[in-house]
Amino acid sequence: FREAASMNEYEHILCAMGPVGLPSRILSYKLHSYLTYVSPEENLEDMTKIGHTDPITLNNIYRFRTLNELTTVYGVTGWPLVKTNSPAIHNAGYQRHAMNSVFIPIRSQSISETLDFAEQIGIKGLAVTVPYKEAVLPELVEEDTEAGEIGACNTIIRRSNGWYGCNTDTYGFRRALAEFLGQDKLHHRRVAIIGAGGAAKAVAYVIKQMGGKACIFNRTAAHAQVLAEKYGFAYSGLDADSSAMLDRYSDVIIQATPKGMNADSPSCPDNDPLYFYQFHGTEKLFDIVYVPEITPVMARAENAGCEVCNGLQMLKYQGYKQFKLFTGVDYERTDTK
Ligand code: NAP
Repeated sequence: FREAASMNEYEHILCAMGPVGLPSRILSYKLHSYLTYVSPEENLEDMTKIGHTDPITLNNIYRFRTLNELTTVYGVTGWPLVKTNSPAIHNAGYQRHAMNSVFIPIRSQSISETLDFAEQIGIKGLAVTVPYKEAVLPELVEEDTEAGEIGACNTIIRRSNGWYGCNTDTYGFRRALAEFLGQDKLHHRRVAIIGAGGAAKAVAYVIKQMGGKACIFNRTAAHAQVLAEKYGFAYSGLDADSSAMLDRYSDVIIQATPKGMNADSPSCPDNDPLYFYQFHGTEKLFDIVYVPEITPVMARAENAGCEVCNGLQMLKYQGYKQFKLFTGVDYERTDTK
């Protein structure tokens, strides 16, 4: 992008290669590039790994032909960020509400590099995902109450004095869980939270608010302890020795680790964080992972007769809140053009 600023004497084609180069393919108008490159749709699976996109996605999701100097740019940043549904959600919203905006994936190996890039090309807001939800906090000039209390931030907005951080995972999770359970209070029901990372922190905050009695289960028990003590919850490791404890907290089980994400085979036990636990069929399992649609642990729970839910609705709802924070417009408003 810097190079493009100095290339104004002759027509040129400019495109950044590799996995981090995708923004240059979508925003080629900012580079004054004569053309952009795409790859055939059938090769997309491999191409996304090296930063390519296909012509249908470029036109239908990113609305490439409508982008111009007046387009407001937003994005999602993370690493490796191989698969993300956020561009589809946000770009559909811009289209629906007739906004000249675009939302792009920004793969980056450091959050400060993302922010440098964002400053340079004038990005107005970013969704922040694995592994930067905590690392982004020191980069903010201010944060909202939830991001501050949870210690994780998944949404940043550019204000005149710097980046302002929010957490919309809490809203997304609360709404999706309440829909799944058919109620928004847990009335002391026993809840197992699997994981103690960025997403689990938002989950624990919401479960406390909803009145659940929880136990945090995590591979590294010390991380579970820190999170559990914050909310007065119990904690445990996550292995065969924790099976009896999990039994005691199994009214609702929230899976909040990345294990099972992008699992090729739904029946592979290596991708099941609860491989040691026998479901009774009475548990309600909410897995916040949404790719694949049915994770290995969901498949096993469903076979035992449990009600299960993946993280897609959570993702949508947190995205709707993000959309409102970015644009001021209610995503779900129906009186649109
Ligand atoms: P993260 O901070 O990287 O998660 C780390 C947590 O997962 C830690 O508790 C870690 O345990 C545990 N963990 C990692 N690998 C594990 C493994 N192989 N076995 C057992 N535990 C493991 O990530 P995150 O931001 O919390 O996100 C977690 C998942 O939730 C991701 O798949 C993300 O895509 C998904 N998510 C979905 C939504 C949605 O809207 N649906 C929103 C946010 C996140 P240790 O402490 O032992 O390292």
